[in-house]
Amino acid sequence: MIPYGRQDISQEDINAVIDVLKSDYLTQGPVVLAFEKAVSDYCEAKHAFAVNSATSALHIACLALGVGKGDLVWTSPITFVASANCALYCGADVDFVDIDPVSYNMSAISLEEKLVKAEKAGRLPKVVIPVHLAGQSCEMDKIHALGQKYEFHIIEDASHAIGGKYKNKAIGSCQYSDITVFSFHPVKIITTGEGGMCLTNDPQLAISLNRLRSHGIVRHPSEMTKLPDGPWYYQQIELGYNYRMTDIQAALGLSQMNRLDDFVSVRHSIAKRYNELLNEDWIELPWQHPDTYSGLHLYIIRVKKNTKGITHLQLFEKLRNAGILVNLHYIPVYRHPYYEAKGFEKQDFPNAESYYSEAISIPMFATLTESDQQFVADAIKKPIGHQNIF
Ligand SMILES: *Cc1c(COP(=O)(O)O)cnc(C)c1O
Repeated sequence: MIPYGRQDISQEDINAVIDVLKSDYLTQGPVVLAFEKAVSDYCEAKHAFAVNSATSALHIACLALGVGKGDLVWTSPITFVASANCALYCGADVDFVDIDPVSYNMSAISLEEKLVKAEKAGRLPKVVIPVHLAGQSCEMDKIHALGQKYEFHIIEDASHAIGGKYKNKAIGSCQYSDITVFSFHPVKIITTGEGGMCLTNDPQLAISLNRLRSHGIVRHPSEMTKLPDGPWYYQQIELGYNYRMTDIQAALGLSQMNRLDDFVSVRHSIAKRYNELLNEDWIELPWQHPDTYSGLHLYIIRVKKNTKGITHLQLFEKLRNAGILVNLHYIPVYRHPYYEAKGFEKQDFPNAESYYSEAISIPMFATLTESDQQFVADAIKKPIGHQNIF
């Protein structure tokens, strides 16, 4: 079996976790701080807050930006449901902006068209959440300029994208956004088992994010509404959550940060080899925008209409039957029954629909071998009806 993605855990990673298990702190402590510093230094962002998942990170990012009932949040339909659910957790409404047909990221052109209409209707979004699909940055300069014009905030869902760059700056620098979110789920570029992080350059947002991840509690007198009753004192000043990361997880993340650049460069070598092996007229290979250096979380091919008569579904089934655990990232969010019930119409998202009918994520992870890649490529190219060779 070859999965589409998996973690790479070294002996150093294991030792780092064991060290924490023998230390005084298991939950959020000094190693969480060190991990946050490693990521914020890497990304050149001022503040970083580790949490227990990217889903939690997206939730508190929305809350910190004041998203609430009656507000509107827009994201890409081609994403994991968490990018949209975060707005619903806050009582806001969600809508989707169709993707670019070439990069598969939220289209800046569709965004502008939708904003023009929304302004006329008096229903502009409070927050837009572009998702850097497969690790490739969205066109953040354009999205940011629209944010200035139409006065919305921006959360980058960079769950796929740590280690990537946009215009030669690390994704996570928040140069074009209020907050950037990373995921450290095991299939992502680096892992903490479960985990996520919020980065920001805004000192006010930093205070909110820090408070919201731990019950809305403050411990520093400067943040309290009155002088402390005594040395035991702390205050809950808003409704927060227990979204903290443990030091055990952070030790793994901190250790993995040492190999982040290697992970991403190996992914680039794997992509280059796939580009050569899969150079066929019926396969559309992933396109890279010249302003971006992708984290390459995913390698997504599209099955075009072809004279061989191989359909998207047939190729998918053929690969799964060969033990290659391909996937489809993603089912458009509006197609899930929970969202369908909100009245979304698929004809409003023609590029997402066309993508959904053609896309397949083939195996992409740092420990994928050359012979695995050859096996995957052969399985893709082998004509239908010859599967019995396997
Ligand atoms: C994985 C992922 C998330 C959620 O990450 P968790 O850490 O599993 O909560 C959110 N958005 C995108 C685009 C993802 O791929």
